[in-house]
Amino acid sequence: MERLQKVLAEAGVASRRKCEELITAGRVQVNDEVITTLGVKVDAQKDVIKVDGRAIRQQKKVYVLFNKPKGVITSASDPGGRKIVTDFLKAVKERIYPVGRLDYDTEGLLLLTNDGEFANLLTHPKHHVPRTYHATVKGVPHGTLLDKLREGIELEDGLTAPAEVEYYDINPEKNETVVSITIYEGRNRQVRRMFEAIQYPVIKLRRVQFGPIPLTGVPRGKFRHLKPQEVKELI
Ligand code: URA
Repeated sequence: MERLQKVLAEAGVASRRKCEELITAGRVQVNDEVITTLGVKVDAQKDVIKVDGRAIRQQKKVYVLFNKPKGVITSASDPGGRKIVTDFLKAVKERIYPVGRLDYDTEGLLLLTNDGEFANLLTHPKHHVPRTYHATVKGVPHGTLLDKLREGIELEDGLTAPAEVEYYDINPEKNETVVSITIYEGRNRQVRRMFEAIQYPVIKLRRVQFGPIPLTGVPRGKFRHLKPQEVKELI
């Protein structure tokens, strides 16, 4: 027997926290009884579990690495009609959703899965997965400014944790610098805000690595499935 929210998350309904909200909102039934409390345990093989009246199916777990282009929204739907990440993933039959998010204008490595527990674990603030970005700025920020980013910089929502920061490419012709930055938190627009704080706004942002997994080899707009070994290394 397992907790209802765990079974729902593992069936790919949503993250475990979101599934708890579905339960307390009265949207989940077990053997035709509406459940609104969180302690209930179920047998995933025998009990008939429904969300909004539709039976859930135990799905195969899939883990996808997508190279998100800029100008694409990290969301399951967009009422404004903008392009969404799942438009690029139609070949994946399981219902998958993003692990965290990338801004509309950020490109690069985005993981998607139907494994709610995996998604929850990787996005939980306590789980400090390193994320590496290449941030392009105009001009060449002085080393002392990069030190500030390394040590931690004050943002509206508090001091950032220490980060690894290196020059990646300095291009005098274009008067641009690409800075490689690895952060261990996933606050909203964090990299952009860190560079704004040193007066070097980011003009292009790409996530190139998530934990041990690099973006290498996946063209923009394309995806690949993670290998079982890669999934193990992430959690
Ligand atoms: N930091 C940002 O500023 N944007 C992203 O999309 C990801 C990290």
